[in-house]
Formats: sequence, structure tokens, C-alpha cells
Amino acid sequence: MSRKPEADYDVIVAGGGAAGVGAALGAARAGAKTLLVEKYGFLGGAATSSNVLAYCGFFQQGPEPIKAVGGVADLVLDELRGLGLNCDPFKSPTTANWIILLEPEAVKLALDRVLAAHGVDVLLHTRVAAVTRTADRLESVTLAGMDGRRRIAAEAFVDATGDANLALLTGLACRTGDENGHLQAISAPIRVGGRNPTVPIDRAAIIAAFESYNKTGDWPTARPDGGIFTEVPLTGEMWWMMFDHPLKDLSSRSFTEAEQAARAAAHDYVQVLRKHVPGFEHAYLAQTGPQIGIRESRHPPARYELTGEDLLTGRQRPDGVARAAWPIEDHSVPGKPVYKPIGGAGYADIPLDCLRAKGLENLCYAGRVIGADSAAYASIRVMGTAFATGEAAGRHAATC
Ligand SMILES: Cc1cc2nc3c(=O)[nH]c(=O)nc-3n(C[C@H](O)[C@H](O)[C@H](O)COP(=O)(O)OP(=O)(O)OC[C@H]3O[C@@H](n4cnc5c(N)ncnc54)[C@H](O)[C@@H]3O)c2cc1C
Repeated sequence: MSRKPEADYDVIVAGGGAAGVGAALGAARAGAKTLLVEKYGFLGGAATSSNVLAYCGFFQQGPEPIKAVGGVADLVLDELRGLGLNCDPFKSPTTANWIILLEPEAVKLALDRVLAAHGVDVLLHTRVAAVTRTADRLESVTLAGMDGRRRIAAEAFVDATGDANLALLTGLACRTGDENGHLQAISAPIRVGGRNPTVPIDRAAIIAAFESYNKTGDWPTARPDGGIFTEVPLTGEMWWMMFDHPLKDLSSRSFTEAEQAARAAAHDYVQVLRKHVPGFEHAYLAQTGPQIGIRESRHPPARYELTGEDLLTGRQRPDGVARAAWPIEDHSVPGKPVYKPIGGAGYADIPLDCLRAKGLENLCYAGRVIGADSAAYASIRVMGTAFATGEAAGRHAATC
């Protein structure tokens, strides 16, 4: 009989997005010796890898921003303020929801600092690549990094990979997309530099320019309304979400096609701005990626799946550990999001069982991999909520 390896850590968190950072802080603050592993060379998840430059889910909808998420997320916001970001609630002119605008370099540094201040051991350029398990427990993960592979044991694990990569490795049967296997569209927000900051961004001019581009251009946009744009704090760049793409499956081939299409479209779109939109005469493409924005991939089995009905009725419950306050934002059809508000008091409780793997005692979920049906998923995946489910998952993992 093989002996259980001695635990190197109390908690290992896979993935360093909002959920993973929340989980690592939650575990460390509960006294756990905690390791966070992230495959990229920086933390932040979609905020820093896919130009998703707004934290949603921190506030309820409504005329005033009522806070729905605090805890360790506030530590992150404090660090960001220290780096010059305003972090006040900002009412999105396109959706009228309250968000916090971000700048990616500040996010990377703030997350490094907040994790270091709480004694979390961080390994970047490191991917969770394999696991060992018994019938009902995970024992160890194999980490593939720049220095090769090594096996590390822990008492508990948190899957905060966004794509359920850890759950997949354990052999748990994951659902792809919604109940019919349909995936939400992927999108490629970009940053455009070189605009004249004294000229307000002219939506009507963008719409007119794309009316003509959509007839003859190679990459017609699914957002003839000019897309969603805002000014990136600290840099004055334009943040712009204009390219959406259906995702038929999770194959590398599909992602390759999407990445290449997004890059080609981004190039064209900036040329359209330069030629036709006042203030953009000297504009240039500051950044696509590092990778395209993935809205949905795999859903691992949890002990409870939050439902659309839970959100539409604003269901509160005694076993709630986090709040979902962002409206259901469905992107089933590229470029045509459909919003449905949260009912009741403006938030729904997320119970602990959404964060607990079905079939494994010491595996927790955080962020967009928690248990949720397709409607609830369209709300809980946002980064503010991911910090909250992360913190709760980390705290629970620390007690395993
Ligand atoms: C186009 C687009 C626009 C969006 N707009 C918003 C918005 O405005 N505001 C908002 O709040 N949300 C928005 N979202 C949703 C949000 O960005 C994600 O749902 C959110 O980032 C989920 O956080 P997470 O921490 O669970 O996952 P992620 O942010 O995806 O982080 C997962 C991390 O795990 C790492 N990882 C994956 N596999 C491994 C592995 N095997 N080993 C080690 N590390 C691994 C990844 O590199 C990544 O850093 C948007 C999403 C998209 C795609």
C-alpha cells in the first residue's frame, strides 16, 4: 500500500486570477500555509491576460452603489489605490451598472504585494499538470515549471483555474458549456493608444465607419453599435470591446482560429479608427491579449449548482458564504448580451456547497468554476464575485 505523502502545504491554490488571489488570501488569513501557482508570469487572470479592465460584481445594481463584496477584495482595492487607481464605483454608460475601472500593470503589482504581505508562497510560470488521489481525496499535484516537474502534497486544494483544469486532472466529469453544450461567445477586448485625449470618443463616428467596414471588411463586427469602450485609467488609452467570436468547442484548433481572427480584426479596427474617427489620427494598437477572453469553458461537478431562479428571486440562505450581485449577463449570441437583474434585495447568497467538489472531500472551487447552471453562471463569473467565492473557498480549504 502506498503511503500518503507528507503535506508540503496546508492549501494549494491553482490559478492566480481574482478567484485564486481571493482563495490564497482567505486560506492564509485562516492560518494555512498556502501556495498559489499560476501558469503566466503575472497574477490577475482575465484582468491582466485578456484586457478585462473592470471589476464587476462589487456592487448591487441601482441608483446608488451598494457594496456586495468586501473582505480580502478590499485589501486588493487598497493596494490599487496606493498605486494611483481611483477604485471608486463608476457607473458604466453602456449598462448603467457599477464597476471599478482597472489598469493592468497596477493590478499585477498590487496582487504581488498583497499576497506577499500575507505570507502566500507564489509560483509563477508554473502549471498544475497532474494529480494523485485516493477514492475521495486529492493527495498531491505535479507542478510543471521552468525547473521541470515536481510533486507537492497538501491537505486541501482550490481549483481557481477558470477552466476547471485541476478538477479535470482529478478525473471528475465536467460539463462543457451550458446544459446543451453551447459555449458563451469569446471576445477580444483591446487597448488603443495614441488617441488625442482632448477629443471625446465619438460613438456616432465609430458606428458610421463600421457601417461601411461591415460591408467590405474581412472581420465584420457583431457590435454595429460601436461596442463597449472606456478610457483606461492612468494611461488614457481607449479600452474597446468590439470583436466577438462563437466558440464551438474547447479544442486548441478552435482557440487558435479565434486568437488569429481576433488579432487580424484588431489590426483592421484600429485602421478604421485612424481613417474615420476624429481624435484617432495617430492611434495604434497598444495591446491585444496576452490571450483572448474566454467567457466559458468547463464546469466541474459541485455539491450544489446555483440556479438562475436563485438569482432572479434574490434567494438568501443561512449557508451563504458569498454574494452574487451582478445581473445575469448572457453572451450566447456573439455581440448581443442579454441582461436580467438580480431579484429580491439585489443579491443572492452563494452557498458553501457550490464551492465543494462532488466526490472529493478536499477539493474546493473558486471563481467561474463554482457550481452554477448556465443562467447563474452568467452572473457569478465576474471578478468581484470571484474574489468573494475565492475567499470563502480558501477559508474552507484551510479547515479541511
Ligand atoms: C471578454 C470578457 C469580458 C468580461 N468582462 C468582465 C468585466 O468587465 N468585469 C468582470 O468582473 N468580469 C468580466 N468578465 C468575466 C471575468 O473576466 C472572468 O469570469 C473572471 O476573470 C473569472 O475569474 P477567475 O479567477 O475564476 O478566472 P480567470 O480570471 O480566468 O483566472 C484563472 C487563472 O488560472 C490560471 N490557470 C489556468 N490553468 C492553470 C493551470 N493548470 N495551472 C496554473 N494556473 C492556471 C490562468 O492563467 C488564470 O490566470 C469578462 C470575461 C470576458 C471573457
